[in-house]
Amino acid sequence: GFKCGIVGLPNVGKSTLFNALTRAGIDAENFPFCTIEPNAGVVPVPDPRQRRIAEIVKPQREVATTMEFVDIAGLVAGASKGEGLGNQFLANIRETDAIAHVVRCFLDDNVIHVANRVDPRSDIEVINTELALADLESCEKQLQKVQRTAKGGDKEAIAMKALLENRLLPHLNEALPVRSLAFDDSERPLVKNLQLLTVKPTMYIANVDENGFENNPLLDTVNELAAAEGAIVVAICNKLESEIVELEDEERMEFLADLGMEEPGLDRVIRAGYQLLNLQTYFTAGVKEVRAWTVKVGATAPEAAAVIHTDFQKGFIRAEVISYQDFITHNGEQGAKDAGRWRLEGKDYIVQDGDVIHFRFNV
Ligand code: GDP
Repeated sequence: GFKCGIVGLPNVGKSTLFNALTRAGIDAENFPFCTIEPNAGVVPVPDPRQRRIAEIVKPQREVATTMEFVDIAGLVAGASKGEGLGNQFLANIRETDAIAHVVRCFLDDNVIHVANRVDPRSDIEVINTELALADLESCEKQLQKVQRTAKGGDKEAIAMKALLENRLLPHLNEALPVRSLAFDDSERPLVKNLQLLTVKPTMYIANVDENGFENNPLLDTVNELAAAEGAIVVAICNKLESEIVELEDEERMEFLADLGMEEPGLDRVIRAGYQLLNLQTYFTAGVKEVRAWTVKVGATAPEAAAVIHTDFQKGFIRAEVISYQDFITHNGEQGAKDAGRWRLEGKDYIVQDGDVIHFRFNV
């Protein structure tokens, strides 16, 4: 599965968001360091297309695809030096595929701020600097390691040394994230081996007050900073979300309508995480089950089959494919067949978002 780590300074609303996401019920408390262990939760990815396919197929059950969120606490200034829960924090974040960086954009005198003032620019800088410092340390260690082997003429060590000295170290020394550098095909595997933190795709979650979605200079600041690095911003009121999640379905619809919202803000967070990880969904649609599956954008049909079962990839013969739009327009498989919109695809087929697929395979 794919994992998105939730990071941010203490008391910005990470646990509130995480709890709402997973309804895991971990208490959010007005106290720094309250979430010590990383908490992981598996979250269904909301996708209205699944419902529409199910309305046609009328299966016994529907299964959504999922994504994992991990609440990672303990980042404060000095974390890369091992202060606070620094080291554990860094180890936890290394295991994630993407980062959701929560930034406090609400004013509330009852909620202590670690720096005693609400300032998104400086908050973001503190976190990004700690991550860059941690990467700087990893890179310096790696440089020491490869220096000897590079002298001995080892080609890979020479390439790594050049990459570290000419590109990564100067960049990190300015506290800039490695994801803002472009790498060529020879550099990419080397960068991957380094397991850096600032290379991970990152989005900002601006935690605003109920009435802070508009005319909020704190949110404007986050938008400006994110635009400069080409990052996604999701504005959300985590406190409100934690209330919405407690409601029964019908009540929830009414509550959202009263607020002028079409869906819970959490849905936007989940979808943004999905987008950040460059993921897409395909469907299987049988009478037993209509189900959504996650694959990387660009995955081939056999790679998509492997998500269901590795045997499906090994014994892959063909994929029967109907695009989502054709499936809906022609009212399901038979209709799509009659209209000539049913395709038999081979092992080189690149799966498209929303495809309804049936795999043929040897056992
Ligand atoms: P964490 O340390 O980043 O995990 O922060 P928490 O989620 O524990 O939140 C810290 C405090 O801020 C709690 O008392 C929350 O109820 C409160 N809080 C979280 N989100 C909001 C919000 O959107 N508005 C307001 N006013 N308070 C919030």
